[in-house]
Amino acid sequence: MRRALKTATIRCALRGLSLARADRWFAEPALGVVLMLHRVRPAPDDPFRPNGHLEVTPDFLDRALARVRATGARFVSLEEAADRARRGFTDERFVATTLDDGYRDNLVHALPVFRRHGVPHTVFVATGMVEGTASAWWLTLEAVVRAAPRIEAVLDGRPLSLDTRAPAAKARGFDRIARRVDVMAEDDRAAFVRALATAHGLAVPRILSAEMMTWDDVRAIAADPLATIGGHTVDHPALATLPVDRARREIGLGLDRLETELGVRPRQFAYPFGNVRAAGRREAALMAEFGIDVAVTTRGGLIGPREAGDTLFWPRVSLNGDHQTDAVVDLLVSGAPFRLARAAGAVRRLIPTGRRGTSAPDHTPDPAAGGAAPV
Ligand SMILES: [Zn+2]
Repeated sequence: MRRALKTATIRCALRGLSLARADRWFAEPALGVVLMLHRVRPAPDDPFRPNGHLEVTPDFLDRALARVRATGARFVSLEEAADRARRGFTDERFVATTLDDGYRDNLVHALPVFRRHGVPHTVFVATGMVEGTASAWWLTLEAVVRAAPRIEAVLDGRPLSLDTRAPAAKARGFDRIARRVDVMAEDDRAAFVRALATAHGLAVPRILSAEMMTWDDVRAIAADPLATIGGHTVDHPALATLPVDRARREIGLGLDRLETELGVRPRQFAYPFGNVRAAGRREAALMAEFGIDVAVTTRGGLIGPREAGDTLFWPRVSLNGDHQTDAVVDLLVSGAPFRLARAAGAVRRLIPTGRRGTSAPDHTPDPAAGGAAPV
């Protein structure tokens, strides 16, 4: 239950900062904010929700957009955000909104909310997730653990047998396997989750087709004047862990596929997983090679003067499903948690830390720590 404990700790920290009105006293001077979302759908009636941090409800999104607008910020497309940042606009803060991966709920539940508020947004599509060829380990593992009363696997060369009947046992089982899968090399991870699905009577393409958009769905979003489609690779790998030629192929083939399906070549990109171990300066240089105009990470933070000229490595602010309150929205958009976390980080760097994974399924920054958080 490490994730549950971590979530509770972050919730306490955010509540404390909120009560202390940190959004007022420690607000970060900034040009703008890029919001990060993944899924938007009504809360499913299932206590086993290991990827629940990746989704917010349409009601919460509706309230969050209204609150952000009430701060006087201006909602703009990511393209316009980059333009404003480069020109150093400081009259009003910009807010650009992004959604990663290409979940069907983006079309069904998020788009109507964006239309109601007139909010431009970018949807980053991993083409292999749409086509069912990627392994999307966090989704596959969730589907397997949800369906199976018992998980049998070989992990680290040792047989593993887990009772996963009760929701709490499912959560424990998911955490246990996710911790190991998170640090596997890309090919090993894909092979492991595919074999796991097959061994438990499931197939990855069917798991993905239940959750992801079809190309017709992507075209329907792309046809909306408020929406832009961005690149997110083919197989959703942690790019920085791949040899450079393979990373280049993942980026290029994903962009090619989007261009073929949509008739427009994307100029925006989100690094899969997007944390410091999944995307670095090499990846930013690759973005420049491919003519990308703005590329976003999952590092937490606002767009300040320093980031303004560095549009291929922008941080974002995650609207995290575990923290769906108005106070948290106020706090995050103020930038106060990131500012305080940087100050705390200066102290923490004096203390050695353990190894962390490259590709946590949440791909969301930990709002209290200001970095990417493993599950
Ligand atoms: Zn992603």
